[in-house]
Amino acid sequence: MKIFCIGRNYVDHALELNNPIPKSPIIFMKPPTAILAEGKPFYHPEFSKNIHFELELVLKIKKNGKSIQPEFASSYYDQVALGIDFTARDLQDTCKEKGHPWEIAKAFDHSAVIGPFFSIDEVKSADGSIHFELLKNGQTVQSGSSDQMIFDFDSLIVHISKYFTLQQGDLIYTGTPAGVGKIEIGDKLVGKIAEREGLHCEIK
Ligand code: ZN
Repeated sequence: MKIFCIGRNYVDHALELNNPIPKSPIIFMKPPTAILAEGKPFYHPEFSKNIHFELELVLKIKKNGKSIQPEFASSYYDQVALGIDFTARDLQDTCKEKGHPWEIAKAFDHSAVIGPFFSIDEVKSADGSIHFELLKNGQTVQSGSSDQMIFDFDSLIVHISKYFTLQQGDLIYTGTPAGVGKIEIGDKLVGKIAEREGLHCEIK
């Protein structure tokens, strides 16, 4: 199983970190050991003093494909979950400064929280978009909608499959809206998708 992640897929998030708006999707990957199942606590590692939450919509790939054409892209997924792309922002800033790869900041153990999957038909609103939000200790800190994505689901499938064979069960973390922030021990994170609880995670 492969885990793809998309960087800077929401304009307001790119701007909050002073990053340029990308002209094509920014792809990075996490290993399967990054997965943290829904409901399990996240133990704050000691190697970072500034781990950020990033709530994202996550697609699950349902069949194998390579060089997928736009007209067929939507047949490769029909399920979505909420996920958190935990990011050690301090390590990432150092990696970016030095031009180094950023795996230690993004792909460490349990950096990919994943909630239960929903059928996309079940969670999309009348206009076809999917609304989601993150509550930290009961307060909304992030809210977004799939129609705010710079590169939509189909474009991501087309782009990723140009370089990588997509396999059944692969996951795509599709990027985070604005409002990312630091986690502290004791925080309770709850994700909502179309008003349903789609994820919860306590920081220990
Ligand atoms: Zn992310």
